[in-house]
Amino acid sequence: MADSLQGKAAIVTGGGRGIGRGIAHVFAEEGASVLVVNRSVDAGQTVVEEITAKGGTAALFQGDVKSKADMEGMAAACLENFGAIDILCMNAGIFPAALIADMSEEIWDEVLDTNLKGLFFGAQACIPHMKEQKSGRILVVSSITGPNVGWPGLSHYMASKGGADAFIRGASLEMAKYGVTVNGVAPGTIMTDGLRELGGDALEEVRQIIPMGYIGEPEDIAYALLYFASEQARYVTGQILIVDGGQILPESPTALADA
Ligand code: NDP
Repeated sequence: MADSLQGKAAIVTGGGRGIGRGIAHVFAEEGASVLVVNRSVDAGQTVVEEITAKGGTAALFQGDVKSKADMEGMAAACLENFGAIDILCMNAGIFPAALIADMSEEIWDEVLDTNLKGLFFGAQACIPHMKEQKSGRILVVSSITGPNVGWPGLSHYMASKGGADAFIRGASLEMAKYGVTVNGVAPGTIMTDGLRELGGDALEEVRQIIPMGYIGEPEDIAYALLYFASEQARYVTGQILIVDGGQILPESPTALADA
């Protein structure tokens, strides 16, 4: 086990599977005590057990990022379990596809409330503690989908992630004088359960336009976040790092043919 986060207390929302599970493992391997936040208890508890079986420290908080009360409970649980909130990593997100013409108001609200309003509730719950301790790291898992590229059927998701990037910059301005940095990682296509549920053909098509030739793993995102979480990144704030194997670079689907 390395120790770049030794003694730190970290919250990871959506830590029960996918990218969040990868973040929880990597942060714990680096010495952080990790509060895994998830709606489903079984998935979250499994990650907690995986981490503790490897000698790490983790606890579960069952909560929904759409709920202000749950986010306040999450902050309280982290303080109760680990005595501090050094890192808040807001990863929980959903991406149900729906064309604008067919989209219900409920789906629009569900996506915006989870992916964007959840950032507000999560940050608001943890900021008082970080201000008081005059240090902290707020991390957001954004996306290339919205800020950089897009899919028909994901306009709600794209709006939420564009909003997430703007939130990162706004929050970074408010928190800088307290020694708290706010940064994000924008994943390209990462192999997770959520993505597998979208279906196989689309995944193969995407793989073909990724210059590095393969779909990323949750740990690829976790290691980028680890940099932002580290002491070494103390002077970096308001930034969003794209981690996508070069996915947004080709100008056309055939651009890689001669490479
Ligand atoms: P998954 O669907 O695999 O995992 C999402 C996790 O978030 C689950 O553990 C889920 O558990 C939890 N979650 C969902 N909604 C809530 C909620 N309201 N409150 C608390 N927890 C919640 O998704 P990914 O790992 O693929 O995605 C994670 C993040 O990465 C998202 O923000 C997504 O937008 C972003 N991303 C993913 C990409 C990819 O290619 N996979 C690409 C770009 C960005 P439960 O339902 O039990 O709560």
